[in-house]
Amino acid sequence: MSESERIIEQTERVSAHNYHPLPVVIARAEGIWAWDVDGRRYLDCISAYSSLNQGHRHPRIVAALVEQAVRLTLTSRAVYNDRMGAFLEKLCTLAGFDMALPMNTGAEGVETAIKLARKWAYRIKGVPADAAEIVVCRNNFHGRTTTIVGFSSEAQYREDFGPFTPGFKLIDFGDARALEAAIGPNTAAFLVEPIQAEAGIIMPPPGFLTAARRVCSERGVLLVLDEIQTGLGRTGRLFDWQHEDARPDVLVLGKALGGGVYPVSAVLADEPIMGLFRPGDHGSTFGGNPLAAAVAEAALDVIVEERLAERAAELGEYLMGRLRELRTRHVRDIRGRGLLIGVEIERAAGTARRFSERLLEHGVLCKDTHAQVLRLAPPLVIERSDIDWLVERLAAVL
Ligand code: PLP
Repeated sequence: MSESERIIEQTERVSAHNYHPLPVVIARAEGIWAWDVDGRRYLDCISAYSSLNQGHRHPRIVAALVEQAVRLTLTSRAVYNDRMGAFLEKLCTLAGFDMALPMNTGAEGVETAIKLARKWAYRIKGVPADAAEIVVCRNNFHGRTTTIVGFSSEAQYREDFGPFTPGFKLIDFGDARALEAAIGPNTAAFLVEPIQAEAGIIMPPPGFLTAARRVCSERGVLLVLDEIQTGLGRTGRLFDWQHEDARPDVLVLGKALGGGVYPVSAVLADEPIMGLFRPGDHGSTFGGNPLAAAVAEAALDVIVEERLAERAAELGEYLMGRLRELRTRHVRDIRGRGLLIGVEIERAAGTARRFSERLLEHGVLCKDTHAQVLRLAPPLVIERSDIDWLVERLAAVL
């Protein structure tokens, strides 16, 4: 039995089977590259589901982690710490909001945004107690808590996990008219991803976010954007909403906010909304801890100073162009924005999983989403020559 077979056997024996990993055991990584236990090298196009925008173990982010780790790691919010304020000030300035609430995972960020929207509905909009509604989209992915999977349209995410939290209404993604029709006097918010990444890189029609912004403003409803996957440079702007004139009332970030080393999420809003939270309304033992704050501050610095959003725009366009040239009979569609790209495989050619296993043999880490779509989301520090290398492998497999 090889070392990797031994580790896979051990992992499968003692860990819950809530994932179906590719058969590779990663032991080391740097930048865009990862190495398995046998020393084989892979170009990482999974990037921990778009969390590694800055690349694996960015030296500046690792240095921030280490420096902070030898000084102060955890305080809880029972006291102030000397890192959280500076981190949130940087984040608020960058995103253009008054205030932020730090959490750890994306799902917690979304839960926080849901509580905030409901509180706003009761305190400011005057919605009767326990009647607030939130409009969401079919094929959404906002995380895995019971409240969040309760408004998923994906049967497997819900099956066996009810009963669910009421108060959510589903509309089709990209349909501004349906949004308008779904809004009633008790609607608190419209919660949406700018691009439905987990659903298979589903792009809304152009102008959808602008229309959603207009409808929400006219009807007195909060626009809550889940930019956990699309934000922080991934789609070619710092935030995907900047491609259209659609500044949200509440913005949820996660993934790359942790710089690929630590779970950090945050919810941002202006004072009239975020100011509604009172002590005791919400919290997290680890949210805003000094280690997270130090890492996230460095993660933001790297995104800005290394112009990762601009790189994603430029290199994303290049990769998309190269992929279009190589369109084979197995490829049904290529879509995306920046370095968040979906390659849809024809059903007759088999599942995307089959192609991701072949790509693994060619030294590319790449995961299927939703049966037929391969997601290409390399770290944004990738170079043009690496993209050429990647396209050669893709050409061989596709
Ligand atoms: N929202 C979006 C858009 C996501 O892509 C994800 C994760 O893939 C989440 C929320 C949940 O984040 P986490 O897995 O950190 O809870």
